[in-house]
Amino acid sequence: MTQPVKSLVIAGGGTAGWMCAAILSHYLPKTIRVQLIESEQIGTIGVGESTVPPFLELIRRLGIDEQEFVRETQGSFKLGIRFKNWRRKGEEYYHPFGHIGGHIDGQDFYQHWLRARDLGDDTPLQIYAPATEMARHHKFMLPFKAPRTPIASASFALHVDASLVAKYLRRFAEARGVTRHEGMIGKVDQDARGFISALELTDGRRIDGDLFLDCTGFRALLIEKALGVGYIDWSQELLCDRAIAVQTENINDPHPYTYAEAQGSGWRWRIPLQHRAGNGYVYSSRHISDEEAIQTLLSQVEGRPVTKPMVVPFKTGMRTEIWAKNCVSVGLASGFIEPLESTAIHLIYRSMDFLLRYFPGADCDPNLSREFNLRMGSDYTEIKDFVVLHYCLTQRDDTPFWRDVQAAPVTQSLREKIALFAENGALREGVDELFRAPSWQSVMDGMGVKPRRHNPLVDRVPEADLRATLAAVRQQLPAFVATLPSHGEFLRTHCPAAEVKVPA
Ligand code: FAD
Repeated sequence: MTQPVKSLVIAGGGTAGWMCAAILSHYLPKTIRVQLIESEQIGTIGVGESTVPPFLELIRRLGIDEQEFVRETQGSFKLGIRFKNWRRKGEEYYHPFGHIGGHIDGQDFYQHWLRARDLGDDTPLQIYAPATEMARHHKFMLPFKAPRTPIASASFALHVDASLVAKYLRRFAEARGVTRHEGMIGKVDQDARGFISALELTDGRRIDGDLFLDCTGFRALLIEKALGVGYIDWSQELLCDRAIAVQTENINDPHPYTYAEAQGSGWRWRIPLQHRAGNGYVYSSRHISDEEAIQTLLSQVEGRPVTKPMVVPFKTGMRTEIWAKNCVSVGLASGFIEPLESTAIHLIYRSMDFLLRYFPGADCDPNLSREFNLRMGSDYTEIKDFVVLHYCLTQRDDTPFWRDVQAAPVTQSLREKIALFAENGALREGVDELFRAPSWQSVMDGMGVKPRRHNPLVDRVPEADLRATLAAVRQQLPAFVATLPSHGEFLRTHCPAAEVKVPA
């Protein structure tokens, strides 16, 4: 009979390493020893600060108090993303979390909205999105604390300080028995099958294991350097390959959304936390130099910079096998898609969901790793297509970058999705995808895809009823949102973080 896994070793202690340690220490039986190796000398990338709603489900599943987590990570709330200058300069749109409108007569709101448009109503789609309405007015309330109100179907995620998240999860995991080793991994030992048998630290210590998680970031020490697993390169589809990150003082209360503004050669983000804001410029090194990107970013940030600009090169793509032999790569070691939809941290806990679902014996049966790789591969592909959607419909041709974006290849599957949607607003949805109908509808709409017609199923509703229902939402939603506390007030009242002195 197959031997069970008795010892699991996590290489790396960034967001990926400690998130894996926290999840595994919570779910695995104590008969499996979990150890983590990290090197303070190398440090972590420390830039992943915007999340998506399932992140909060994870926090709750681990039994972590949400308010405490927000306080401890200097967190703020995120109702979606505000995109500016993507289709054309001067235009903007929101990708909100949660629903847009409600079902009418059992049919998706979007189709009713399309019908109203066909009847001459030109009210924008986002007027009916509770998260957009709150975000636009910098208001916040936990939607589940407001049942049976116009904002009840909104959803939200968090902005968090990445280094504080790693610290929080470290405390959580160590309290549940994870052993941490400080040190530099110098050598990866493999047996005759090519399985990893131990990690040797440069000071001579040797950490044996049955199953290894490679959380060493872009270094990919185990999966790539030791096992030689290849990489699927998506840099033809997504042209950006570098980012500059800089932190600034907050000058106003944090806004409850991630801000993503297109630039001449990429885009910049702004993620406000309670004690500071994270900023960055994601760009294509074929179109702008590091120095120019730094100058562009510094000329646009609000508030005084409190860190030196950090340049982060990256290669868009994913491993050909995210799990190979007895090594599962997680986080940046497994792949990377630019952070436009804040999906990398999501892929970390997705990989732990799948690892727990397909948890192997010590022989790591390939049927399990094959299934894991299929599921992770489809998540990566879905996210990549969704991110490409933000670019491929642009009408911008004002810089060489945007002209190259317009000429970049688009996969057959994404072209088909866009063509289907352009016909009658239908979507090709999978069963287990991160981005559901309201997300695709918001970005398609924001990027100018206007379906030719609505689905006649919604014509069953009398026109007068439809008009009255829409008018009621248009009246009630803003009236209710106006009564809510501002995002800043909400944070100060419910989850104020400790004050931090920013360096002079
Ligand atoms: P790292 O943080 O790089 O950690 C690697 C770990 O491995 C460290 O502990 C290091 O010490 C250790 N290590 C490496 N080599 C050795 C060795 N030889 N010996 C011992 N230890 C070693 N994600 C989001 O979800 N939202 C975002 O908004 C977002 N923004 C991003 C912006 C940018 C510009 C980039 C590049 C990424 C962004 N991400 C975002 C992704 C996110 O930052 C990462 O997914 C997340 O931080 C996980 O990183 P990691 O733990 O895999 O790697």
